[in-house]
Amino acid sequence: MNFSQRDKKHNWHPYTQHKTAPNFPAIVKGKDALLWDENDKEYIDAIASWWVNPFGHSNKIIADAIYEQLTTLEHVLFGGFTHNKAVELSEKLMEILPSNQQKIFYSDNGSTAVEIAVKCALQYNYNKGEKRTKVIAFEDAFHGDTFGAMAASGITFFTEAFKGSLLEVVRIPIPTEGNEEQTLFALENLVKTNEFAAFIFEPLVLGAAGMIMYSPEVLDQLIAICNQYKVFTIADEVMTGFGKTGKTFASDYLQNKPDMMCLSKALTGGTIPMAITTFTQEIFEGFYDDDVNKALFHGHTFTANPTGCAAALASISLLQTEAMQSNIQEVHQSHIEFEQKIKNHPKVKTTRVLGVIFALEVKTETQESYYGTMRNKLYNFFIENGVILRPVGNIVYILPPYIITPNQLQKVYQTIEKALDIV
Ligand SMILES: *Cc1c(COP(=O)(O)O)cnc(C)c1O
Repeated sequence: MNFSQRDKKHNWHPYTQHKTAPNFPAIVKGKDALLWDENDKEYIDAIASWWVNPFGHSNKIIADAIYEQLTTLEHVLFGGFTHNKAVELSEKLMEILPSNQQKIFYSDNGSTAVEIAVKCALQYNYNKGEKRTKVIAFEDAFHGDTFGAMAASGITFFTEAFKGSLLEVVRIPIPTEGNEEQTLFALENLVKTNEFAAFIFEPLVLGAAGMIMYSPEVLDQLIAICNQYKVFTIADEVMTGFGKTGKTFASDYLQNKPDMMCLSKALTGGTIPMAITTFTQEIFEGFYDDDVNKALFHGHTFTANPTGCAAALASISLLQTEAMQSNIQEVHQSHIEFEQKIKNHPKVKTTRVLGVIFALEVKTETQESYYGTMRNKLYNFFIENGVILRPVGNIVYILPPYIITPNQLQKVYQTIEKALDIV
């Protein structure tokens, strides 16, 4: 039996109904934008392995930094100790984050980064003796799968079974073009009640919802309303961070900066699982007290893992190179050209581009569900043709590693064009 067949005996996969799922291809090797399975079939990783891998697979520079760290200091506890890599990384982040972000809290994944932000918003108010216990989030948002993050997420079939066990979150519509007023009105009505501790959002692009985009102008207005009513704003940049939107952070498009930011996914270039929640000085001071009970009693065993920090430092240096910045621009330009070409296709309903993200909505007769038949047909077609794309319902999106070659990117576009013929 090969790996693909042996896999199912013990492995339980994410978001998978195993009774109806086929055997999955077993990937044994990756280089740059390419992956190979055990039968030597080649795939273009057109979604950067769930958005984590902007600099390509098996990147030598990051691998060397990891190897050096593993053979110097692989790990040390961060409770009661610090280490050089965490210090360097926090200093590096200060250079690239919005200047109001002053404190760095480390964890392991996007969901924990969100949990920590939400907990801080609640405890900040608790410490001050204020009763703000609810959170505001967008409809169809995705913030992760642990309880706090799940409560903030609005993709209902992910969270349906846990209704009643979750933190109270009230949703407002996504302010897509033409719906801005409705969202601003909904937010203002909520914050006026003084019951809310925070508004959490995916800035400019809702990833898991299908790369749904909205403008920095309306987000600036939403943040201004929250500021006025002392509701903390949390930018969940787990997907958008580190260049995806064409700037280092989506928040770089804003005039009004968020109070907290959540980072993960591309933070270590898709190598070591790591996450960071960042805070303003004001939030930190809400915990800073002679009373030990006001401290943030949250931590993870692998907090600030030195190997993860070394990988993040190498990744950020790579992102800052001129070559990587021009890769981002080239992918963006190429998406714009493809958009011009494909937007009038009879089967295309809408298209959108931001940074290295391209999305198109396929015209359908009926509302296509998240894992519906058209989605599966498209997905299977892409995999058969050696292109990894995971449509969300009828939305096909590309979020490639920045180092994808022009030829590889053209193959991705051509495969999408061919797929439109079969649906
Ligand atoms: C992926 C994602 C998360 C969750 O991250 P995990 O590492 O999967 O827990 C949270 N927020 C956003 C915006 C994401 O895209």
